[in-house]
Amino acid sequence: MQNAQKGLVLPMMRDIPEMFGSLVFNDDVMSARLPREIYKSLHKTIEEGKALDITVANAVAAAMKDWAIEKGATHYTHWFQPLTGITAEKHDSFLSPQNDGRVIMEFSGKELIKGEPDASSFPSGGLRETFEARGYTAWDPTSYAFIKDDSLCIPTIFCSFGGEVLDKKTPLLRSMEVIDTKATRLLKLMGDDQVTRVSSTVGPEQEYFLVDKQTYKKRRDLVITGRTLFGAKPPKGQELDDHYFGVIKPRVKAFMKELNEELWKLGVYAKTEHNEAAPAQHELAPVFTTTNTAADHNQLTMEIMKKVADRHGLSCLLHEKPFAGVNGSGKHNNWSLSTNYGKNLFKPGKKPQDNRTFLVCLCAVLEAVDRSQDLLRIVSASAGNDHRLGAAEAPPAIISIFLGDELTEILDAVEHGEHAENKKAETVVTGVEVLPDFKKDTTDRNRTSPIAFTGNKFEFRMLGSSFSIADINTVINTAVADSFDRLADRLEACDNVDAEIDKWMAETITAHKRIVFNGNNYTQDWIEEAHRRGLYELKTTADAVPLFVSEKNVELFTKHKIFTKSEIASRCEIMLDSYCKVLHIEALTMLEMARKEITPAVVTYTNEIAKSVKLKKDIGILAENDATFVICKKLAKLTDKLYAKTNALDSAVVGLDHTSSSLDASAYCRDEFLPAMNALRAVADELETIVAEKHWPYPTYNELLFNV
Ligand code: ADP
Ligand code: MG
Repeated sequence: MQNAQKGLVLPMMRDIPEMFGSLVFNDDVMSARLPREIYKSLHKTIEEGKALDITVANAVAAAMKDWAIEKGATHYTHWFQPLTGITAEKHDSFLSPQNDGRVIMEFSGKELIKGEPDASSFPSGGLRETFEARGYTAWDPTSYAFIKDDSLCIPTIFCSFGGEVLDKKTPLLRSMEVIDTKATRLLKLMGDDQVTRVSSTVGPEQEYFLVDKQTYKKRRDLVITGRTLFGAKPPKGQELDDHYFGVIKPRVKAFMKELNEELWKLGVYAKTEHNEAAPAQHELAPVFTTTNTAADHNQLTMEIMKKVADRHGLSCLLHEKPFAGVNGSGKHNNWSLSTNYGKNLFKPGKKPQDNRTFLVCLCAVLEAVDRSQDLLRIVSASAGNDHRLGAAEAPPAIISIFLGDELTEILDAVEHGEHAENKKAETVVTGVEVLPDFKKDTTDRNRTSPIAFTGNKFEFRMLGSSFSIADINTVINTAVADSFDRLADRLEACDNVDAEIDKWMAETITAHKRIVFNGNNYTQDWIEEAHRRGLYELKTTADAVPLFVSEKNVELFTKHKIFTKSEIASRCEIMLDSYCKVLHIEALTMLEMARKEITPAVVTYTNEIAKSVKLKKDIGILAENDATFVICKKLAKLTDKLYAKTNALDSAVVGLDHTSSSLDASAYCRDEFLPAMNALRAVADELETIVAEKHWPYPTYNELLFNV
């Protein structure tokens, strides 16, 4: 997040360099522990994508094992990212029994390179029926091995017996290769003779809530579904804007300190942390790195956050919308491209209008985002994130790009074959003599845009807090690579590269400038304008995901060998299925809470009040408008309503059995479950404001949000 307070909580500064990466089998360790030839050939694999040979693997495995054992590890695991969106691991011990009854610690190159977890317990979206349950994990040497909970974790990809991809990492790695190849090709055609490699870089900002663990445990909804399914709004929410960047409380500070240390040991560049907009909400941002590592590190960050919170008597909530009426949590995916010689392709420089590489890359992003609006929405879709996108706190369910006025003017000039004048940065006059005046950033911060150009990178802000960043980066890399590729085809075929680039830029801007929007994305006006521009508005997961399998998308992914057609279909199936499952579990949890806890609590309280009414009546002091009597009648009426809404949700749940496909089921959940859940919640929340606190079965929003 912006304006981060840098380095707020630090341990003894001098300890950090030693601590950083101490649990990672990184380049320093490899260079110190591997024979020279082995190290060199591993580097070739990592840097140039050369195939790995078994003698190298054996030597690396032996060095890894010795190092891990010295660090106290007893087990190893292939660490992978199945389509559940979380990581999976299966631990094996290094112990190897010998004939004479002794044991030795063993770990071979074969074990390093390949694992065979049973694939049948992981989602495959219909791919599984066609082949065996067997799955393979294969070492990804581009991501360092590390030690977690006494196990050596080896980052791996995960695929089925038939070679179908069953994880999030393989497509991401493929997309990185594609953007590398296509960007390098394009830059060369544009006259860059230094370029040999282009990497996509990412810094994901992670939002989360921290609540007291004991309070958390008393809420069945939070424990089971990760969000509160009931809960009246607290008297004080975030209206006063006093939490954002506010002073961090000691208990939270202690958590952040330990979190940072744990992450640093794992080589995660955790850098900034601050309070977020909502009470009890916080954010962590790492220093950016290559996309693959960033994706691994973000998974680790989420896992370690939960663990460390637990040790501090806290619960870390990563759900996109744990509390209604309070800002939810997202993840901002800051994305850029950089060359082997360290040039950021999205750095505009002092004269962006003359920086042709920058302008070409910018146009390619416009085109890619416009063409892949649906895909970007799909990879940001989930039942949880549906509560954010489109609500007035997060970007709407419409994809657009914020460029700021200066860049928009430059593109306007390019479109019309003109040359934009150089804008002088305006000066902010502080009006205080001892303070220096400073230059204004040329791009303002627009917090309402789903995709904002922020100086030298694009910030994709639609992701939900619990998401893996793998999918969105797979889409961005592939879509932008595709634009590069088509431009490169044209440049290869033309006589005059410069003229062709000008022509392409002008055409691209004309065709795709509808995706640029610099105004307030939260307004109704924008929604109407977006419809006029023909942009997609995909409100829910059930609306968005089915578009994944469209001809255009299949063509894009198969052309660049990211997914096969059946892999796309299977992913679509998994997403819809998971949407239905989440809503189903939420509905069942609500029913249970309403029937077993809320209704009995209301009845108990009503009885208590009714007794008082009866007593008053018996002794002859009950007035027609007696307050106790009025409350009692209101409670009775609301109880009837609660009962009716509970039954209505129950009927909706029963109806799910009659749907015939996941497409059908997801539409059913959207149309039947959600309204029924909202209706039930509304009655229960009203009751919460009337029933005596001692009878209410759950801690209130107040207790959850303000007692850490
Ligand atoms: P801001 O506060 O303007 O958003 P920061 O520098 O704090 O900018 O960056 C926010 C996130 O963006 C951080 O995780 C940071 O590492 C990341 N980031 C910065 N530059 C790049 C880049 N070139 N590529 C990818 N991510 C980047
Ligand atoms: Mg930011």
